[in-house]
Amino acid sequence: MAPMKVPFTTADFLARAELAYPHRTGVVDEPGPFQDGGLGTLTYGGLAERARALAAGLDELGIGRGERVAVVSHNSARLLEAFYGVCSYGRVLVPINFRLSPAEVTYIVEHSGATVLLIDPELKDTLASVSAKHRFLLGEESDAALLRPGVAPVPWEEPDEDATATINYTSGTTARPKGVQITHRNIWVNAVTFALHAGVTDRDVYLHTLPMFHANGWGMPYGMTGMGVPHVVIRKIDGADILRRVEKYGVTVMCAAPAVVASILEAAQSWEGEVPGRDTVRVICAGAPPPSRTIQRIEEELGWEFIQIYGLTETSPLLTINRRRAEEDALAPEEAAKRLARAGMPAIGVKISISDQGEVLARSNVVLEGYWEQPDASAEALEGGWFHTGDGGVMDDEGYLTISDRRKDVIITGGENVSSIEVEDCLFNHPAVAEVAVIGVPSEKWGETIKALVVLAEGAAATEEELIKHCKAGLAGYKSPTSVEFRDAIPRTATGKIQKFKLREQYWQGLERKVN
Ligand code: AMP
Repeated sequence: MAPMKVPFTTADFLARAELAYPHRTGVVDEPGPFQDGGLGTLTYGGLAERARALAAGLDELGIGRGERVAVVSHNSARLLEAFYGVCSYGRVLVPINFRLSPAEVTYIVEHSGATVLLIDPELKDTLASVSAKHRFLLGEESDAALLRPGVAPVPWEEPDEDATATINYTSGTTARPKGVQITHRNIWVNAVTFALHAGVTDRDVYLHTLPMFHANGWGMPYGMTGMGVPHVVIRKIDGADILRRVEKYGVTVMCAAPAVVASILEAAQSWEGEVPGRDTVRVICAGAPPPSRTIQRIEEELGWEFIQIYGLTETSPLLTINRRRAEEDALAPEEAAKRLARAGMPAIGVKISISDQGEVLARSNVVLEGYWEQPDASAEALEGGWFHTGDGGVMDDEGYLTISDRRKDVIITGGENVSSIEVEDCLFNHPAVAEVAVIGVPSEKWGETIKALVVLAEGAAATEEELIKHCKAGLAGYKSPTSVEFRDAIPRTATGKIQKFKLREQYWQGLERKVN
């Protein structure tokens, strides 16, 4: 008889941590509302117990395998518990961006068909109108009404590594976010590959500087958990707070968007004494290409190792990684930083190809299963057996990928993806707007910030303030334009398409990179 294959599931990681490190700190969640409830620190044994109590509670509610459980929360110990308590027993986790408006959250809850909704108590008032069949506030309410401590959850009899583990909604080229279906196998492969490339060991301490609902935020914890690495949670991102945690908990590894990296450098300027983490911290930057000057400053001023990765929600997320090879140790700092500014080489098990049109294509075990209930979008994204990233890229002679342009019209501001079409739709709803094009323009602080180019309807009048206010009423704050420019016309191609790259050009001229 052939040996039985053991499917990869997300459960494997916490199971290993509970076995090898039951008394070690699994999560540090402070300061924050959870501290008073005694959740400031949880051991790996405690984390595993709480995850089981959640799973047993879902059993009692009658939530079946494959059913969706949505969570909207700032980073917290509770959110981490949900990762394990939901996915590890065959249910599907739908982590939702806590910055979305109630209408946007409602859309995702309804589109994913989530029957359970867990909400951060801090968002209680903002999301009061969002409903689901079962709705709990995380914390005291869910502890009392949902968790079943000491009750053994019904085991997932036939775990399937190809089952969907999470659905992450992302803003793409369409106005509505798409639900990216990530399987247990996707998460497993990503976690192990990442841990290998980043050299994660049980001596590391991980700081969550990215929201866990994001690909990077949720893709990484599994590998860390598997190695018994303590998770230090931070709810509101702030450079000085990051440095304080590095000092207090001996943090050695973190992921950060370029905007976060910039805020760390700023905080380091006014830090008294030696900035913590010299020669021990590695910072993994993702989401956008950081300027090489920033890389050099991280390495010289802080003495932290800089690693760049490139990937998407759709790829769980790791596709390429750029970590200094031993052969490059002797390079001058400026040259080393320039080399690290490239997106990197394909990670183990990833195949990258550049299409004739210059688009980055990928094949790997981390590529999404499809978009939830959007067969057409899935077929388009996976055409020819390759995942189409929508990013323009070049592969150099050394085998390093550099992202040169974003072919899809997504604006990344402060690490958040915003669909320009969604913002345009909102502006079109204003009676004075006849034509509109929304683009990302450079911003020191946010990488990119949103600008709307507007042609007013004949005889109509509207001010910049008025249009920004109109957007803020209908969209999450970070999706609203920060500036509006009025134009007489917006140039289009013969087929009527607006060429966004042309509109962006004047704002990006002379800068090191064309996307941020
Ligand atoms: P998300 O799905 O939110 O992770 O966003 C993925 C998008 O972020 C990619 O399609 C790229 O446009 C961009 N991105 C991620 N990492 C990098 C990087 N290292 N360099 C350039 N762009 C990046």
